[in-house]
Amino acid sequence: MKSNGSYRSYRSHVTNVTFMTSMTHKNHVVKETAADFIESSTDKAADKEHRRKINFNIGRYNAAVPNGKQQFFDVHLAREKAKNIKWKAIETLDRQLEKFETAITKRGAKLIWAETAEQAREEILKICQEKNCRTLVKSKSMVTEEIHINEFLEKHQITSVETDLGEYIQQLDGEPPYHIVTPAMHKSKEDVAKLFAEKLGTDPNLTPEQLTLVARQILREKYKEAEVGITGANFIIADIGGIAVTENEGNARLSCAWPKTHIVVAAIEKVIPSMNDLALFWPLLATYGTGQQITVYNTIITGPRQQNETDGPEEMYVILLDNGRTNILSNVKSRESLYCIRCGACLNACPVYKNIGGHAYKTTYSGPIGSVITPHLKNMEDWKHLSYASSLCGNCTEVCAVKINLHELLLENRHEAVEEGSSSFAERTAWKMWKLAMLHRGMMNFGNAGLKDWFVNTAMKSWKKHRSELEFPKKSFNQMWRKKYGKR
Ligand code: SF4
Repeated sequence: MKSNGSYRSYRSHVTNVTFMTSMTHKNHVVKETAADFIESSTDKAADKEHRRKINFNIGRYNAAVPNGKQQFFDVHLAREKAKNIKWKAIETLDRQLEKFETAITKRGAKLIWAETAEQAREEILKICQEKNCRTLVKSKSMVTEEIHINEFLEKHQITSVETDLGEYIQQLDGEPPYHIVTPAMHKSKEDVAKLFAEKLGTDPNLTPEQLTLVARQILREKYKEAEVGITGANFIIADIGGIAVTENEGNARLSCAWPKTHIVVAAIEKVIPSMNDLALFWPLLATYGTGQQITVYNTIITGPRQQNETDGPEEMYVILLDNGRTNILSNVKSRESLYCIRCGACLNACPVYKNIGGHAYKTTYSGPIGSVITPHLKNMEDWKHLSYASSLCGNCTEVCAVKINLHELLLENRHEAVEEGSSSFAERTAWKMWKLAMLHRGMMNFGNAGLKDWFVNTAMKSWKKHRSELEFPKKSFNQMWRKKYGKR
């Protein structure tokens, strides 16, 4: 990988890498990923206590969102406008990113293009080793979860400390984030108090306020120790060459301002054309993410400390990560999923997510948006099952901050999976039979309801496993028609 290489130049390589990975694992991982998902989602769906906790937290979110929405004169128009801006940004992605690169490097930041997670990790390691880094502080960022940076750095004797409270709780518990906005959503305050008592030796009866103070005290020391700070980016601002970071705890500001070196890891689709667009995107993200009118801390970073400035990092690196995004970009239909601003609203609205929770997906991005993008970011063959984990009720599309047609994209994934030949023999046969019967009315009318019930429920044994039996009406449509209108 070449630092400062061109965004366009690595497109073909990415396609090759993805194809080869898919071919290598084709036969056994397919079953493993889908079987894992079915097993964990079956377990979680039966866990009433788990469901109670997430529904409690989602209930609080649902109560807050209408308040946030009140700030918009016309919230549908705001979402439509945001979608249009993202459309423009993604359709001109190459130019927007190059504009960003020119502007931010002028102010002294170093820009690195990373095609894959591995390249991003290696670049981060190289910077850390140059700075003799032993401890780094990191603010909440899904893209750093995607590249598994903490585990990687740990292997190189570098401690990466999560500074967002939810992420810190998850790190203490050795778990990945459960939700893209609320990492510890599945834990009650009692669970957190118990965890702190086990891991930090605190009183198991501490209140949430006391627990926060414990974390705060520990984390303050980490900022002082850290040689490097890592943040993600909520938005990449093309015209001014800036990184916009949104947070409620102030930990991202400390992570980028206190250590001498600041590394930003940003996925390429995070781009917006202009700083003026933040007037729309900041309130939209706050409302759809947490129900706030505006998030507490909103920061724009346009480079390292300048000569006339008194604070900020001495050096700043921006790693722009592809890791499969150009696969999505090249797909005209799925491209729309790159508009996502990671507000998490579709997760909170999804009846499947509300039953099985975030960890069952076994992916970095869960819920409807995760099911849409994961098969493209990884590969369709191994991850297509996620697109089937949906009732297609359309609630995700209904609540999406930028009006992505999520349920249609789930259908599109199913379509692509079938086109690529990755559907099972049983599934193909079932659809062939269905088509045959639909085109030949006589077959539908053949036999009575009892015979049809027996035939379909015997033929579709695996469908029945998690569903009630199919039951045909006692009279066929033709019989009912004749009864009502006579023979015509
Ligand atoms: S797909 Fe829409 S609702 Fe879901 S996280 Fe992205 S922006 Fe939010």
